[in-house]
Amino acid sequence: MFWKFLDDLNFVARCRKYNIGIWQCPNFLFLVMGIMNIAVMFATYAISQHYYSDTVTIIAVSFVAAIILVIGSFVIRGVERIAEANIMKSEFISIISHQLCSPLSAIKWNLEILESEGDGDRLFSEKQRMFLDNIKKANEIMLKLVNDLMELIRIDQGSSVIENKEINLADLAKEVMKYLESVRAAKNVSLILDAKENVPPVFADPKKIKIIMENLVGNAIKYSNEGGTVEIKVYPEGQKVFFQVADHGIGIPKYQHGRIFQKFFRSNNISRYRTDGVGIGLYLVKAILKYFNGKVWFESEENKGSTFYVSLPAYKK
Ligand code: ADP
Repeated sequence: MFWKFLDDLNFVARCRKYNIGIWQCPNFLFLVMGIMNIAVMFATYAISQHYYSDTVTIIAVSFVAAIILVIGSFVIRGVERIAEANIMKSEFISIISHQLCSPLSAIKWNLEILESEGDGDRLFSEKQRMFLDNIKKANEIMLKLVNDLMELIRIDQGSSVIENKEINLADLAKEVMKYLESVRAAKNVSLILDAKENVPPVFADPKKIKIIMENLVGNAIKYSNEGGTVEIKVYPEGQKVFFQVADHGIGIPKYQHGRIFQKFFRSNNISRYRTDGVGIGLYLVKAILKYFNGKVWFESEENKGSTFYVSLPAYKK
């Protein structure tokens, strides 16, 4: 608490972080306003003690109010600049993502056509097939990043379109496993699905639930060791349906558990392993689940592994 307060006072670092001038930086301006308020209270007190005149006191107070008003307008302009920069950043990400989406999708379709044409093994040598797989994997990683960024913008702008349907989480999990096949194979990780027979459906948007599953299963593969195992479970409990993903990988340091769902957060141990990622997957998972009254939480121990749990209300017809 105390350190956070001290950190708040370090306005130079804060203003630098926002990349704006000191006279546009709300942290600095609020500090100036605070100091001025205190100074003015003493000054007004001293003046009124000295002159015993209402007029002098009124002039002093009005003068101070005018200065506070001017500083207030600077604060507003500073906040506006930060807000404008935020809008521009979102627009920039949105434009770039849309521009990248079409060519990346075209590469994906063309690769699929190439693969499906004739007898694949006779068409390509083993070496060529390996290169094709590498291209496919790299393309999938880029497509996922672009799709996640577009979803992030939609969620932050509140412009997500939700099309709910009755869905079976076990079927969706199978689709996601198929989609992540090349990523799984590249790391030689075993994916095991344990889906109970009597799982009731949930009422949600399959595209959004797929984003959740792709991120959780994708992370479990990504943060597993080579040749590891990832277990996916789908089961009912009470009035809810659970989707669970467990890995035995690098885990998350305990002191960073509280920050794991924050936008762009990546835990410290990750940089050592040089995995791809930008830290928006789990933020999306949590944000998307809010649309469907769902919840996400996890258990994790460094170097032992992580288990992520998702619960969604079972659909009653
Ligand atoms: P990304 O994986 O792109 O970095 P995410 O938002 O999906 O972003 O995850 C945020 C962070 O949470 C990751 O960088 C990683 O530090 C940690 N994390 C998520 N899932 C796992 C997992 N299964 N095992 C270990 N760490 C994980």
